[in-house]
Amino acid sequence: MSTSTPPVIVLGGGIAGLLAAHELGRNGVAAEVYEAGPRIAGMAASHTDADGFSYDVGAHFVTNRFMAALGMRANCRVLPRYGEVVHLSAKKHPVYPIGLLGVPRFVRSAVWEKVRRPKRDLSVAADRFRHDYGRKLADEVALPLLEAWSGLPADQLSASVIDKIPTGLAQTIWLRMAQRMTKRAVMIGYCKEEPSATGVFHVYPDGGIAAICQHVADGLAQPVQVGQPAEKIYTDGERVVGVRIAGRDIETNTVISTLPINRLTQLIEGSDRLDRFRRFQFRGLVLVNLKLTGRELLPDVIVWTPHGFPYFRVTEAPMAMPWIAPVDKTMILCEFGAQPGDEVWAMTDEEAVERCVSTLDPLIPDVRSRLLGASVLRQPLGYPVFALDYEPDRAALAAEGTGIAGLHSVGRNGEFDHILMEDTFWRLRRRIPAIARDHHRCSVVASSIEGVHNEHSTA
Ligand SMILES: Cc1cc2nc3c(=O)[nH]c(=O)nc-3n(C[C@H](O)[C@H](O)[C@H](O)COP(=O)(O)OP(=O)(O)OC[C@H]3O[C@@H](n4cnc5c(N)ncnc54)[C@H](O)[C@@H]3O)c2cc1C
Repeated sequence: MSTSTPPVIVLGGGIAGLLAAHELGRNGVAAEVYEAGPRIAGMAASHTDADGFSYDVGAHFVTNRFMAALGMRANCRVLPRYGEVVHLSAKKHPVYPIGLLGVPRFVRSAVWEKVRRPKRDLSVAADRFRHDYGRKLADEVALPLLEAWSGLPADQLSASVIDKIPTGLAQTIWLRMAQRMTKRAVMIGYCKEEPSATGVFHVYPDGGIAAICQHVADGLAQPVQVGQPAEKIYTDGERVVGVRIAGRDIETNTVISTLPINRLTQLIEGSDRLDRFRRFQFRGLVLVNLKLTGRELLPDVIVWTPHGFPYFRVTEAPMAMPWIAPVDKTMILCEFGAQPGDEVWAMTDEEAVERCVSTLDPLIPDVRSRLLGASVLRQPLGYPVFALDYEPDRAALAAEGTGIAGLHSVGRNGEFDHILMEDTFWRLRRRIPAIARDHHRCSVVASSIEGVHNEHSTA
């Protein structure tokens, strides 16, 4: 053991790892960030192509509150609009979620469910959705979307996936009015960790979402070390004692990992506490970005497509962020639920584009003649799958963490939770002071033990 305080080791240079190091710095603790890949940002990467279209990994939205907390508010533009609708038919696109209350069959079925159905166990997603929203709305809209994200039937999914809609109906109506009055994309329920309010709205950083990661990385005391994969995490007596990074052993009593939890388990030496998380599954996404002539081609920024389309969501981000595509051009993002190895994942890029173009007709009738080009991205970590099968273990991870002292699994994939970047930020802001105190306490104990050991060996 060395007498100086060892650094906290942060695994992963995506937004969660960078924010963890940032928060440790605010709490006076040195951190070293190791990223396996050649660059930072992970799922928060952005790039601009030769034709002047800018992309993030999927469409990414952040708020002025999050950006202000990072000191980036001045480098952001305000989104003039944001809206989500559900495609029920070629002419019917009710606003999500309040417009669905205007569909008589949904209302009748929801009332029937409340009045006539006996109370029953609601731990399964399918039962809970039908109970909360009525059978029609659940079966026609909510469950097909949930199944597309998850790749499992809704009767094999836990109802805890649903406890995620933080904004009530009355507040949603109020916030939508605020959107209209202020002509700003007031946030409605995007972040779970902090409340919605009329003063919290969507913004977009200059340089794209990746600029957030770069800004945080630039403020760190030590540069992120890229091309440095974590290979092992050593434990002793259910406490972290070190890590192996790119063939080099480093002593530490605190590791913050942002790796997918089912990947983290494979790195642990000396404990089987994390073995139960090995079977957790992520649902992948195939993201097809079509570059088209024209603008405002969709009924709103996001169109949910529960039926009749091979993808579950279509997004026209330039409606909300006009500057990410050249004038009079736009991008339409089609998101397919997929799994590495399945038929959707295995489509060639050309096949994926053709599948979009040949099915988008009900939303954009002349889509083929507008097509300028496309880009296709395969993201294996789209959504954590809340399978009933391992629900007790998922709940235990959420409540108790890894169970190994000094090992903290954070971020969307590390916590195995449907959270966004701002949620990760607020969670870290709350958790890091205790992690910093524990790290300090363990380091002091370790150096006093070493002091005693040195006295004995010199005596
Ligand atoms: C389609 C889509 C749309 C989204 N939209 C939004 C949105 O609108 N707003 C929002 O806030 N969020 C959004 N999100 C979520 C957001 O992208 C994620 O929450 C966030 O980017 C995850 O960051 P992370 O650091 O937790 O993970 P990652 O970005 O995956 O970072 C983990 C890093 O760890 C590295 N790594 C892996 N293995 C090792 C190893 N052995 N050693 C060292 N490093 C390793 C990886 O290379 C990676 O860089 C969206 C996500 C998706 C998929």
